[in-house]
Amino acid sequence: MNTKENIEERFHTFLDILSKNLKDIPAVERISMENEDIEEKAFKVLLSTILSARTKDEITLEVSKRLFKRVKTLQDLVDIEEEELEKLIYPVGFYRTKARYLKKLGKILIEEFQGKVPSRLEDLIKLPGVGRKTGNLVITLAYNDYGICVDTHVHRICNRWEYIDTETPEDSEMELRKKLPKKYWKIINMLLVNYGKKVCSPIPKCHLCIEEIKELCPYYHKIQRIEKVLKKYKFRRVSKNNIPDKKGTYILKIMLKESRNIKYGKNTKKFKKGYYFYVGSAMGEKNNLRRRIERHLREDKKLHWHIDYLLQYGTIKEVYISEEGIECEVSKELSFLESVEGFGSSDCGCRSHLFYLKI
Ligand code: SF4
Repeated sequence: MNTKENIEERFHTFLDILSKNLKDIPAVERISMENEDIEEKAFKVLLSTILSARTKDEITLEVSKRLFKRVKTLQDLVDIEEEELEKLIYPVGFYRTKARYLKKLGKILIEEFQGKVPSRLEDLIKLPGVGRKTGNLVITLAYNDYGICVDTHVHRICNRWEYIDTETPEDSEMELRKKLPKKYWKIINMLLVNYGKKVCSPIPKCHLCIEEIKELCPYYHKIQRIEKVLKKYKFRRVSKNNIPDKKGTYILKIMLKESRNIKYGKNTKKFKKGYYFYVGSAMGEKNNLRRRIERHLREDKKLHWHIDYLLQYGTIKEVYISEEGIECEVSKELSFLESVEGFGSSDCGCRSHLFYLKI
């Protein structure tokens, strides 16, 4: 049974397994390990974390090493021409903006912080180009203090494991501060960041995942169950341009990129970012699979059914069809997912024909 304690314990076990299997140390952690002096460490961790945003780890490491050969102190950062700095840090993501921020940062640290990188999160996040993610990494890696660095990977994976239920990395940090045992605070980023980039990515590569983890992973089990249902009812995936003129049942896999409040009829409902599975029926001579699905795919459709309102914002990613009339049976089988009540089930006894899966 998925009790709160079980979910928490399962997530801690997941972190322990990752910790035992950790081979891939992220660039910023490596930079921090290579430096003993705390001030130097803080300076390098701060700069390399800024460089690491929207940048591959290998590039962050290579560029940071090149930068620290030329820029050894904050004064060097102030003195270097912005153009030379841009060239030095190219090809990190947004290198021009980052060069501008780094120059400002050097000046502020010298003028307002006696030439030192602050050790308090409240001070760090006031610096240009420094958010909570960077600030937390500086206090944990450089000052060995308690912080939780939550980037997009930590945010996604903690939600995917149902440990937390949050909308943004900032919300995730606050939730983790409430419930994550302190022994994981300083290491969670190191454990999840490369795993999130290479394995448990936005579209997860579960075939690359550690077997022990797969066995525990709630997301993996849900995906497996969905596949079993598709197989059991002989659904096949079809291209959006090649839907047959036949009767049957269809499933639309819809992606909603951002959470949003959607008005349908007289109601307004918050739809969370993620995947939605809509089960529809096309058992009429005229309202066959092709006609029904093509209608859902049209941009200029009239808002008639509830699902049309969701489709104003969501994108149909995959279409599955079966040539049997099994709409309600399939909906019951999919109800292990979160049901969005009132969708597609006005004239049958089902709770819903629309189901949600968190990304
Ligand atoms: S099994 Fe898949 S979803 Fe689960 S942790 Fe591994 S990669 Fe992520």
